[in-house]
Amino acid sequence: MSYTSSPYSSGNAVKVVVIDAGHGGKDSGTLGTKTRKKTEKDISLDVALQLGKFIEDNHKDVQVIYTRSTDTFLELRERVSIANRAQADLFISVHCNAASPAAYGTETFVMGMHKSEASLQTAIRENQSIFLEDNYEENYKGFDPKDPDTYIKLSMRQNVFLNQSLNLSKKIQDQFRERVKRRDRGVKQAGYYVISYTTMPSCLVELGFLTNKEEENFLHSTNGQDYMASALYRAFREYKSEIEGVTFSQEIVKSKPKTEVIATTVETVLETSKETKKEKKEKAKNCEILVIT
Ligand SMILES: [Zn+2]
Repeated sequence: MSYTSSPYSSGNAVKVVVIDAGHGGKDSGTLGTKTRKKTEKDISLDVALQLGKFIEDNHKDVQVIYTRSTDTFLELRERVSIANRAQADLFISVHCNAASPAAYGTETFVMGMHKSEASLQTAIRENQSIFLEDNYEENYKGFDPKDPDTYIKLSMRQNVFLNQSLNLSKKIQDQFRERVKRRDRGVKQAGYYVISYTTMPSCLVELGFLTNKEEENFLHSTNGQDYMASALYRAFREYKSEIEGVTFSQEIVKSKPKTEVIATTVETVLETSKETKKEKKEKAKNCEILVIT
């Protein structure tokens, strides 16, 4: 199943990209190991702004829109509205993860039914921003990440963009693994609000676990943020050139990090490429089922 155009975005060009720094203001996101002043909202913003700058500097034909460029609180539905109103060609949401201290590594999510309890828990945690909003019961009626019916309804919206979302997500994970030597936890699916209601290819990136001391140190470091933003940029550039069928000759911004490499063994390296194909097939099948019903 392949879609080259949509009523929303131009489909065969990447001219408008929305970069969404997770959380902000009263919503700090994960506090990590709770030993630092800065939290997920700060790191997400720093990396998001840096990614945007790389795109702006290297692609004069691309308009970069930030859902937030300062430490402000923003409703999840407003983030979606910004992207949909702009008729963006791509939506990238930047976050940091949280779990037990031993967990580390990067993962990128596209909209879909979670396949593991861990993915569900991550989505629930990220969606919790909703509860900081006024009138959330009214505003988010019908959105329950634990309820399979929610996914059936949402799949109708995002399925047409799923191939492209998976494509970008895989490129992001490849960059994190190959160029920044991060542990690759794979491309996954879960019910994140912000990537469920957008009308364009969308993914949500978890840069790493702030609850893991080493990864937290890495993501707080200037170098670490620089490398992660560079990796995201390279994935974006590759995706754009593929969609548009052109080759860019810009120099690669950054290569391997010199310090603080954590990942030495990568258990889930193959998960990305193998599962992507499998997931594509499954999702294509699901899509057909959904259309029939
Ligand atoms: Zn988050």
